[in-house]
Amino acid sequence: MSHYLTTIGLEIHLRLLTKTKAFCGCSNCFGGEPNTFVCPVCLGFPGSLPVLNSQYLRYAIKVALALSSNVSGMMKFDRKNYFYPDLPKNYQISQYDMPLSLGGYVDIISDNKPKRIAITRVHMEEDAGKLVHNKRALSSYVDFNRTGTPLLEIVSEPDISSPEEAYRYLIAIKSIIEYLDVSDCNMEEGSLRCDANISIRPKSQKELGVKVELKNMNSFKGVRDALIYEEKRQAKALSADEPIAQQTRLWNEEKQVSEPMRTKEEAHDYRYFPDPDLPTVSIDATLIEEISSELPEMPEQKKERFIRDCGLSKYDASVLVSDKVMACFFECCIKLYPKPKMIVNWLTGDILKYLNANNIEFNSVKTTPQRLISMFELMDNKTISGKMAKEVLHEMLATGDSADDIVKKKGLLQISDKSVIEKLADDIINENPKVADDYLSGKTNALGFLVGQLMKKSKGRADPQLANSAIKKGLGKKRP
Ligand SMILES: [Zn+2]
Repeated sequence: MSHYLTTIGLEIHLRLLTKTKAFCGCSNCFGGEPNTFVCPVCLGFPGSLPVLNSQYLRYAIKVALALSSNVSGMMKFDRKNYFYPDLPKNYQISQYDMPLSLGGYVDIISDNKPKRIAITRVHMEEDAGKLVHNKRALSSYVDFNRTGTPLLEIVSEPDISSPEEAYRYLIAIKSIIEYLDVSDCNMEEGSLRCDANISIRPKSQKELGVKVELKNMNSFKGVRDALIYEEKRQAKALSADEPIAQQTRLWNEEKQVSEPMRTKEEAHDYRYFPDPDLPTVSIDATLIEEISSELPEMPEQKKERFIRDCGLSKYDASVLVSDKVMACFFECCIKLYPKPKMIVNWLTGDILKYLNANNIEFNSVKTTPQRLISMFELMDNKTISGKMAKEVLHEMLATGDSADDIVKKKGLLQISDKSVIEKLADDIINENPKVADDYLSGKTNALGFLVGQLMKKSKGRADPQLANSAIKKGLGKKRP
């Protein structure tokens, strides 16, 4: 991408976890029998009237405040008109020119430097229903359970300049929302949906390139993959002097390509107009203050606290707070074992590596702070070495067993018997006379090799410090 600049903007749709739907009393619940959480209001029966759910408004304000967005004193709802079988009213209640809030930002780390991504607006919008296609019977069914459930749309400014930044922005938004406990942010299940706009232009060009909209990404990784693909596709076209069509493209996860959507569906004219059934909503300062005082500690603040009180590096603190459950796990650990640096090293090192490799979210981790600390204690009292601890931890994460049980089951006890280790040391020295001579003639780094051999022979179970002194002692005996 060296000749081109990339410009990306994201639109995030977030499903809020209120008890009831946005404008009626139906349960905002998922996965029930189709068409069981419906009523005349969400089905759009003539004469029924929507009423704004106050919990929906509170949650929405909470999110806006956490994103430092300015909550409007006055907002209104508009009808976004279009026809689709999953939309019984033929319009969606949304917000057009008087949204919930304007402005705001999210801070991310890009290329090891802090970067601020500005937010354009946050607005409230109800969701549509769901079509269920039965390919065999060549028919489609509609499930209205999702119709009228509360969404929040978060629109970013086109401040994002790479797919990686887009990914980080999404992670940052997700972690903020998780701290607020207003949505489960699960992209695979559709609680968080994201559309992206991307354009590229030659570095020498001032005006933005042709904008392409990307839809249908089902995971955070999918968003990044789709943007990487699109960035390359557009660069290739520009290099070959081919024009880029302004269009909406769908990400095909299976084929890992973006494909143009039919242009017919692009030129939407939603004919927005104020919903006559819903009054303008005035949000007074006391309500904003009240909700603001209820905000929990947010990731940025937690990060600062970890740096200040636990002496963590900026990087470590950012990784920890990026996941609410991991940050909580860390806080439990330091209460039991006040060595934050050691805990963070294991958490962001071996534990995250294991979870990432096995595609496991931190909230499904099979071990507990207590169990991790028990493993540290086994290291402290020299029952196991640091190297063995890694093996034990792996087993703990795979099975959920305690470190004690694993050590017993696998016979992993550390050898701390001096005479056993000294015997091993003598064997190693005798097996490696050349290296021993090297050491005695002044090549001190030969020592490391011999200690390594001893550790290998003991299958990592020898106490490393004892191994070191035993080798030294053994070599001393050889000295003429
Ligand atoms: Zn309803």
